[in-house]
Amino acid sequence: MKQQLHIVGGGMAGSEAAWQAARMGVPVVIHEMRPKVETFAHKTGNLAEMVCSNSFRSDDDEQNAVGLLHWEMRAAGGLIMASADAHRLPAGGALAVDRDPFAETVTERLTALPNVAVSHEEITDLPDEGHWIFATGPLTSPALGDAIRAETGTQALAFFDAIAPIVYADSIDMDQAWRQSRYDKGETEEERTAYLNCPMSRDQYDAFIDAILAADKTEFHDGETATYFDGCLPIEVMAERGRETLRHGPMKPVGLTNAHRPDDKPHAVVQLRRDNALGTLYNIVGFQTKMKYGAQTDVFRMISGLENARFARLGGIHRNTFLNAPTLLDDQMRLKSKPNIRFAGQVTGVEGYVESAAMGLLAGRLAAAEILGHALPPVPQDSAMGALVHHITGGAEARTFQPMNVNFGLFRPVDGLRGGRRGRKDRYKAYTDRAKAAWSAWLAQIELDAA
Ligand SMILES: Cc1cc2nc3c(=O)[nH]c(=O)nc-3n(C[C@H](O)[C@H](O)[C@H](O)COP(=O)(O)OP(=O)(O)OC[C@H]3O[C@@H](n4cnc5c(N)ncnc54)[C@H](O)[C@@H]3O)c2cc1C
Repeated sequence: MKQQLHIVGGGMAGSEAAWQAARMGVPVVIHEMRPKVETFAHKTGNLAEMVCSNSFRSDDDEQNAVGLLHWEMRAAGGLIMASADAHRLPAGGALAVDRDPFAETVTERLTALPNVAVSHEEITDLPDEGHWIFATGPLTSPALGDAIRAETGTQALAFFDAIAPIVYADSIDMDQAWRQSRYDKGETEEERTAYLNCPMSRDQYDAFIDAILAADKTEFHDGETATYFDGCLPIEVMAERGRETLRHGPMKPVGLTNAHRPDDKPHAVVQLRRDNALGTLYNIVGFQTKMKYGAQTDVFRMISGLENARFARLGGIHRNTFLNAPTLLDDQMRLKSKPNIRFAGQVTGVEGYVESAAMGLLAGRLAAAEILGHALPPVPQDSAMGALVHHITGGAEARTFQPMNVNFGLFRPVDGLRGGRRGRKDRYKAYTDRAKAAWSAWLAQIELDAA
């Protein structure tokens, strides 16, 4: 009798993990607490319920990283993508989904498999034995959250994200910005130049504050409490407290000299910090915000050096339970301190339906392979799956880790291609071609191993 795989949470990630493992021949039990125990966002007892928008975002697998993830999941026979395709709604280049029939299809197809059982119960601890995947999502139940904290330490599990916008490095105008850490602090040249600085004159600063105050903001969902404030005030809240507050906070100009115009003392400075080991992404330090996405791009492009910025992700603050995955998980998505447990989905620090399902797909395959005694080759870093899992399990800066959408900034650059906005189309096509080849080769390798 093969060992069972227990999957906690039957959302996007847990459902996909169960499908992949069961199709590899492993018996699976999904432990889903709904409908017995509810969350503030879910409304049904279905597996894979979409809690808010009904969009899987862009379906363009040549020019868009999330579209590429769709492609890779389809190539791997993913249930979430097949069910989304079956209930697709017209939405231009995006993949919009008829949410109720979608979740019903996922539920029916999973429960129709002879080796899948669903047990409606809340799991409140991290077992010492057996094979487990925890895919309990952004609204992980409080009792389980306590158990995870007890295992990982309080610093390693967050209950809110506070996401500062992330900019593609090659879209920052380095004729305006300069590299320097405040007071040139640091032991090495790399540390002394760890930040990118964007200067502001008094007039620019005044206009910037006016724009922040006037911008449209998003409200918290019902049931989300606003106890996030300690240490991560949204910039608009700081601006509301006083026009000078930001200049004394994240935008303070002290300890910095404009390398392009040393005699010109900036009135305020916006700092960006490297966000990944590849150096392709920079986050705007301290700029977590509830401004609406359209308003954010308009306001942040007022900053000198960011006039043409492209954003890998925009800022936000949400109720969101997630691990500091770069420190806690190994490259097989196992908890280092308890390797019989894997984590998958949004709780690992990815963001979004598609990314969560993708991480479920990987965790399901990795866990099933372990149970079956097959060692899988490493997930190729040039695929979208590999770029994302590599980011959360080591590529991201652990100290400032916040949830991440898939984006091309997570990919290793392709040599010999032009940077910047002009080369973008060719570059993205090169990334997606390379990713598809790498992912197809990985899948073929597994099929050969299993044969
Ligand atoms: C209010 C809100 C709005 C969002 N809006 C969007 C959006 O518009 N677009 C988007 O892409 N993403 C959105 N997200 C993020 C979205 O939740 C995730 O992208 C996706 O659902 C995560 O998939 P998952 O499988 O990791 O978690 P989920 O889909 O949430 O699944 C986790 C499952 O685990 C169960 N569970 C939790 N704790 C336990 C326990 N102890 N025992 C047993 N079962 C448990 C839950 O009931 C749930 O079914 C939103 C999140 C929230 C909270």
